[in-house]
Amino acid sequence: MAVSENQGARPSFTGLGARDVSACASRPTMDDARAALSRYFGYEDFREGQRFIVDAVLAGRDALGIMPTGAGKSMCYQVPGIVLPGLALVVSPLVSLMSDQVHALLDAGVRGSYINSTLTPGQQRTVMRRAIEGTYKVMYVAPERLADPAFREFVSQVHVALVAIDEAHCVSQWGQDFRPSYLEIRDFIESFATRPTVVALTATATERVRDDICEMLGLRDPATIVTGFDRPNLMFGVERLDAKMKRRRVAGYIAEHPRESGIIYCNKRKEVDDLADWLASQGVASARYHAGMSTAERQESQRRFIDDDALVMVATNAFGMGIDKSNVRYVIHHNMPKSIEAYYQEAGRAGRDGEPSECLLLWNDGDTSTCRYFIDRVGMNDGVAEDEVERVQAIQRRMLDWMLGYCRTTGCLRAYILKYFGEEFAGRDGEGAQACESGCGNCSNCLGDFEMVDVTDVAKACVRCVLELHGSFGKSMIADIVRGSKAKRLLDGGLDRLSCYDTVSDSANLVKDVIELLAAEGLLSISDGTYPVVEAGPRILEAEADGFTFSMKKIKRERPAASAGRGLPSSVSFGSSGSGDAELFERLRVLRKRLADEQGIPPYVVFSDKSLHDMCARMPRNADEFLMVSGVGERKLERYGTAFMEEIAAFSVER
Ligand code: ADP
Ligand code: ZN
Repeated sequence: MAVSENQGARPSFTGLGARDVSACASRPTMDDARAALSRYFGYEDFREGQRFIVDAVLAGRDALGIMPTGAGKSMCYQVPGIVLPGLALVVSPLVSLMSDQVHALLDAGVRGSYINSTLTPGQQRTVMRRAIEGTYKVMYVAPERLADPAFREFVSQVHVALVAIDEAHCVSQWGQDFRPSYLEIRDFIESFATRPTVVALTATATERVRDDICEMLGLRDPATIVTGFDRPNLMFGVERLDAKMKRRRVAGYIAEHPRESGIIYCNKRKEVDDLADWLASQGVASARYHAGMSTAERQESQRRFIDDDALVMVATNAFGMGIDKSNVRYVIHHNMPKSIEAYYQEAGRAGRDGEPSECLLLWNDGDTSTCRYFIDRVGMNDGVAEDEVERVQAIQRRMLDWMLGYCRTTGCLRAYILKYFGEEFAGRDGEGAQACESGCGNCSNCLGDFEMVDVTDVAKACVRCVLELHGSFGKSMIADIVRGSKAKRLLDGGLDRLSCYDTVSDSANLVKDVIELLAAEGLLSISDGTYPVVEAGPRILEAEADGFTFSMKKIKRERPAASAGRGLPSSVSFGSSGSGDAELFERLRVLRKRLADEQGIPPYVVFSDKSLHDMCARMPRNADEFLMVSGVGERKLERYGTAFMEEIAAFSVER
């Protein structure tokens, strides 16, 4: 889309602003905030976390909100920004996103603006001048800007009521996205003659990051809320597939969801290119994104995806930070990521609008090897002290173990993830990985997408083999021995005389899987390095005990659940509400795309998928009914009401 160059000079919406300012002679109340939420954004009420934060901010108290993606963090500062007198400054690292965020505000009738390096110096001056005149309620800035003398001078001339810090974890060196410029924020806040209220928001939950945020931003006794990290609308699935099958599965999935937007994550640039090329050869168009592309190429790619010109994005993890696109319906991991954190962050880009969405992880042993390879190379040529490197490697291995546990667990996948976040870095406690008391009913394990295969005999043979060999061989050799291979290196070593020799008739791959699983469960242990050796694990004696059984999960070949709609129970699935809905939804989707293109803004900014679904359900015929639709405020009604109601009416007549 063409980013409007004179963003700040875009005609503001008369009438909606002046009243707000004068109305705020006394402190705005929660009722004022709720009225603004409904009027501008079309939502009936705040969600719990939002209510807590908004309440604190309106009372003039600093606040810290830790909420998962999709929780609605932006309302926590946008709504106070609207109802408080003066200007709310929003510090965000996501420069490329600011114009979309501001377009969304303008489209909702809120006077928003931004200042960043994509504006010319002249445009920046214009925006600042207009801000001094009181034109805006909300202004986005990049943290670098805060140290700029001209900006400081500007700020001294406006009434800043609130400073909101988005992606606040960027201030912490312990997070994944540390930005040195975030360290400027504290000084900036303290430079005000009258200190504004400060609200910090992040989706990163770790205690260390949280402490850093309070400390490094200088928050004063912040009202803090950590909402649950569960994302009930996300369905989680894990499938173990050979490399060749993975791409077929991806192509099949896309074919089953032809009108839906999704992201496919790969762990290497080459894999992105290979997969995108292969998909193209199968007639599937996709955008791609990785660090090997030029900035212009990447921007173009991202734009095509956000504007729904390309529904599928194939990318490395370089893609996604700050992707606000709310209608991503699925995220497929073509490779296993290196940690649960990374996985949940990437998968969490699905379903920000709260609509049912899927997160599918495809993996195989090759992914494990790739991850181990990267861990072995940590700190290489970095001049980092050796013990530091070892410490980092040990942490990363533990994170990888958790990730592998996720791939292999037969318990509830959601329970597994939430447990991980609850007991971060506490290490695996053996039982942890299997924990699943009740199950969520909305993941591939709870939905029983697999069957259990008894592999007790194989497990016993492998354990016996490791004990007899005293742990000096790798997985393949053990598989050869228990399967009775006649290989020369084996016979020469007299290994055919071991009691475990030739006691298993299953495939070598199955034996290796069993060894991996035994290692994941602590019965065996696989050493690190280029030639991993299988050794006894801390729980090895359990395998010798009477009554020992061992079973392994195997994905069923037939997958009726996965191909039927979302795979969700029908009570939550929109697929169940009849094909008429699907048809109307599609028409509204096309209309949304056309209206978005006409204005040069992303379709999700016009309406979320959730709003379109709600229109399908309500079939509004007049302004009052249209205002009932979730996400429809006064401005949206004014702008789009007629077009959408006409489409709905036409659909009703034709049916
Ligand atoms: P986050 O930044 O926490 O990931 P967003 O601010 O992008 O979340 O909001 C996620 C989605 O939830 C958006 O589509 C937003 O419009 C919607 N939303 C936010 N607040 C509410 C609310 N109170 N009621 C209904 N929907 C909401
Ligand atoms: Zn589950």
